[in-house]
Amino acid sequence: MVTLYWPAYVCERGGDCMKPLIGITAGQHKGTTHILKDTYVQAVIRAGGIPVIVPIGNEPNCAQLIEPFDGFIFSGGEDVDPTLFGEEPARGLGEVAPARDAFEMAFAKAAIQSNKPILGICRGMQLLNVALGGSLYQDIETQKEGTIRQHDQKAPPSHPSHFVQLTEGSYLQKIFTKETIKVNSFHHQAVKQMGASLKIGGVASDGVIEAFESTEHPFFVGVQWHPEALLEKEDEGSLQLFQAFIQKCHKGRD
Ligand code: MN
Repeated sequence: MVTLYWPAYVCERGGDCMKPLIGITAGQHKGTTHILKDTYVQAVIRAGGIPVIVPIGNEPNCAQLIEPFDGFIFSGGEDVDPTLFGEEPARGLGEVAPARDAFEMAFAKAAIQSNKPILGICRGMQLLNVALGGSLYQDIETQKEGTIRQHDQKAPPSHPSHFVQLTEGSYLQKIFTKETIKVNSFHHQAVKQMGASLKIGGVASDGVIEAFESTEHPFFVGVQWHPEALLEKEDEGSLQLFQAFIQKCHKGRD
C-alpha cells in the first residue's frame, strides 16, 4: 500500500494516511465530450482529496459505481428537467441535459443511500434536492414572488457578489464561523420545496435558498454558489468548506 501524507488532516494512525477518493460528476459538451471545470479538481486536491471524474451513463450499475469513492461532489451545469419534480417546462426554463439528469439522479440516490459525504454545488444542490423529492423554481426571475436580486452576476467567477445569511446553529455556520458570508452567484433556478430530511443552511436577502444540509446524514451540504471558483482568489471560507468535506470523507476511510 502506498503511504501518502495528507497536510490538511492528521489521521489517528499518526499522520500518514491514504487520501480520500472523491467522485465528481461532469457535464457533456454537445453530448459527445465530458467536461468539468478545473476549479473543482483543484479544490479537491488543495483540500487533501483525490478527484476522479465520474462519467455520464451506467445508470443500472450505480450501486457498484459508488463503492470505490469516499465522498461525492455533484457539480454545476444545466437546468434540471422539471418533469423530474412533476412540473411542465415553464417559459423561463434554460437548457436541460437529459442524459446527465438520468445518470445523476441514479448516482445521487445510490450516493445518498451509501451515507458517504456529499457536497452539492449549484446544479448539484438542485439535483440532490430533486433526488430527495423536493422541487425547484425553474426560473426565479419569473416564478419567485418579490424583488429578486441579481443571481447571474456579471463579475468574474472568483468575485463574491451577494450576501448569504447562514442559519443559526447550522453546520455551515460552524464551518464558516460567521453569521453572514459573501458568495458568487451563477444561477437562475433555486430550491422551492425542500426534499426529505433537509433544512435550510443559508438564504439570500431576497429569500432565495442558498444552502441546505441534511439532518440525517454525516455530511450532506448543498450550496447554490461556487466555492471552487472563490477558492481561486484564496477565499478562506471556501477552503474551510472543502477541508471540512474532505475531513469527513477521510474519517470514512480510516
Ligand atoms: Mn445566488
